[in-house]
Amino acid sequence: MPSKHPQNPSEPCQHVTIADSTIGHVSICPECSVLHLSLSHVSLRFTPEAFRALSAMVGDAQARLDHVAQSNAAAAAAAVIDEARHGPKLH
Ligand SMILES: [Zn+2]
Repeated sequence: MPSKHPQNPSEPCQHVTIADSTIGHVSICPECSVLHLSLSHVSLRFTPEAFRALSAMVGDAQARLDHVAQSNAAAAAAAVIDEARHGPKLH
């Protein structure tokens, strides 16, 4: 099912890919500027403002993981989970 322009539902969105990776890709509709985040079987649509907020949120989460541990992703995730459950360590 092709997605529709929010402002003009009779026309399907165009998809111009602006980034891709092994897990999916991001495309934008040049007519309505809706961003489409596509991951294997899921596609999510964002306004430019919401996509910016998503990007910032994901970046914040990654920065938190990177801050805790550089080499072991599983240990970093566990440390972030522990910190989220118990609050930041107060020195
Ligand atoms: Zn569109």
